[in-house]
Amino acid sequence: MRDSSGVTPQDLGFTFEDLVQLAEKHRQIDEHHVTVGGRLCRALPIVEEANARVKEYVEKKDVEAPSGIELWEKIKENARRIKKALGMKEEDWNSFSGQLRFAINSLDELMKVVELPDAAYKDIREVTKHYRMRLTPYYASLIMPGKINDPILVQCVPTREMIDNAGIEIPPVAADHSPARLIDQFYPRVLTIKATNMCAMYCTHCLRIAHIGKKDRIYSREAYREALDYIKQDTLIRDVLITGGDAFILPNDMIRWLLGELDKIDHVRMKRLGTRIPVTSPMRVDEELLDILEESNDIKPLRVVTQVNTAQEITPVSREAFKQISKRVSAVMNQAVLLKGINDTRVKMWKLCETIHEAYIRPYYVFNCSFRNPQFSHLRVPVEVGQDIIESMYGNISGDAIPRYIATAGGKIPLHRTNVVRRENGNIILRKPWSGEEVAYPDADPEVYANDKYAFARYWK
Ligand SMILES: *Cc1c(COP(=O)(O)O)cnc(C)c1O
Ligand code: SF4
Repeated sequence: MRDSSGVTPQDLGFTFEDLVQLAEKHRQIDEHHVTVGGRLCRALPIVEEANARVKEYVEKKDVEAPSGIELWEKIKENARRIKKALGMKEEDWNSFSGQLRFAINSLDELMKVVELPDAAYKDIREVTKHYRMRLTPYYASLIMPGKINDPILVQCVPTREMIDNAGIEIPPVAADHSPARLIDQFYPRVLTIKATNMCAMYCTHCLRIAHIGKKDRIYSREAYREALDYIKQDTLIRDVLITGGDAFILPNDMIRWLLGELDKIDHVRMKRLGTRIPVTSPMRVDEELLDILEESNDIKPLRVVTQVNTAQEITPVSREAFKQISKRVSAVMNQAVLLKGINDTRVKMWKLCETIHEAYIRPYYVFNCSFRNPQFSHLRVPVEVGQDIIESMYGNISGDAIPRYIATAGGKIPLHRTNVVRRENGNIILRKPWSGEEVAYPDADPEVYANDKYAFARYWK
């Protein structure tokens, strides 16, 4: 017997008996020391049991929570209809300036693109006297006609509840946390600069609804200077978030200048930009902007933090924008808001997290919708519902697609359930989030931990 290189087992010093023994050994164990019996009787049933946990999700995900990629044909059809209704040319649609120029700001414009019952139009006319409405034609094309409470529609068109709910307004705590113009500071080493109050679209669940105001504002260089001076003198600050409003609403020159100024401050070690524009108007992400991001990221890490609340918001166009951004920055992360009917089931939230993960975005936070704004209390979801949803992801989807669940109440407070159940005979009893099964986990021995004569230290007196 010769192999293809002409070598026989005898050449390698194997006898026939050796070969028989080897074959027998391989029949019983493989490289991971798994017996054939173990594989068939134990490992395969365990995989089957795991598969059962995601069965319902896999069956429902594309029906209950279709992505904008799956809906793309319908979205393109919507886009054609909206372009025509608003009198937009192809180049208007494909440019950010076109998207802003043709943004839907009034009921009359909305009526051209979204069909709703008359009573709804009447209420919208009333609400928009108090709250600002603006949606980009692109974002409007994601709305599925005829779908009751379409998750895109609910996020961008203000409803009756916003005035009905308006009770006692709880002032934003941020008012007490602004040590300098444009700055919000809760933490010693991270702060935010609110660089603008503008967004390409105004969300009905906006935490900064009061700040978003009636008038668009980009601030003067003088205001930015004051913010930068504050950051300069506080040497503890290492991470600066440029938010708004929406950071990508700023002109490229301004973004370049702001990032450049931050990069010049020695103790500022990294930056973040907060933007929803790749979701609401991905045409904004042009080559010049991408170059600016890369240039700054080369100096010190830059992350882009976005807000995607449903898989429906990820289309081939927004996915491409996120892909391009992800090539130029150190991370693209998502901060979703948990919203009633929009992403408040396991299927919808898992689908959101998997879809953005596949669009080069890492799920970072899921916020329980704020109690401070009565305008959108009708969109709030109980804390426990969110806990169930987030905990259900452990063990079932990739770990880096599982966001942290957060309440905002004077800073971000984690809402996760503990999986440490109790202590028992020196063990900690842990609960597996995906099955509820309890396991004993031996803790580190406190005596061994207290001994500092370990590793190489044992050789010294
Ligand atoms: C969210 C936020 C931050 C950043 O918090 P991280 O947990 O680091 O993401 C910092 N400052 C303010 C005022 C914030 O609202
Ligand atoms: S993009 Fe952000 S800041 Fe702008 S309206 Fe929406 S939630 Fe508010």
